[in-house]
Amino acid sequence: MEIACLDLEGVLIPEIWVNFAKKTGIDELLATTRDIPDYDELMTQRLRILDQHGLKISQIQEVIDTLTPLDGAAEFLDWLRGEMQVVILSDTFYEFAAPFMKQLGYPTLFCHNLTIGDDGSVQDYNLRMPDQKREAVLRFRELNFTTIAAGDSYNDTTMLNEADRGILFCPPDNVIAEFPQFPVTLDYDQLKAEFTKAREALLK
Ligand SMILES: [Mg+2]
Repeated sequence: MEIACLDLEGVLIPEIWVNFAKKTGIDELLATTRDIPDYDELMTQRLRILDQHGLKISQIQEVIDTLTPLDGAAEFLDWLRGEMQVVILSDTFYEFAAPFMKQLGYPTLFCHNLTIGDDGSVQDYNLRMPDQKREAVLRFRELNFTTIAAGDSYNDTTMLNEADRGILFCPPDNVIAEFPQFPVTLDYDQLKAEFTKAREALLK
């Protein structure tokens, strides 16, 4: 029995922080792990900026609510859920992903969460555990599931390596170069074809 493990941002939805920054015009929020490699430093800066702009979680969610999944994502996800069980493994936060989950028909999502104060301010972030994506794949194996994982970026590569089959979706060139073992797909039709191929290979 297979479980499909899907990354969220860059596979089904746009990058949340980048698009939130564009919508609100807060350029400082455009920084990513490419600019500030230390994740804790980056998140601390992001939370400070939200605080400086007085943005409460409800206002942040209202902005995120205006964003939409990538073109064809909902249809792809519907197809995949008809083929096998699907779990989305993401490094985002439940509070940010919520508006998208509604638009995607409430799929199963494992991600991190935020500490929200009584006044609705974002006070802190809490990681479920280090390397959550890979750990989830390991646990599914312990439950005798096989896994086919798909993701777009560096933070997916440990999950792709651990899974029985790994697939890249619209990855940046440096990830393609560094991880030549994974097939590269550039649209949902190609991704469907690779899932089908992976599943057939696992059944043999
Ligand atoms: Mg991603």
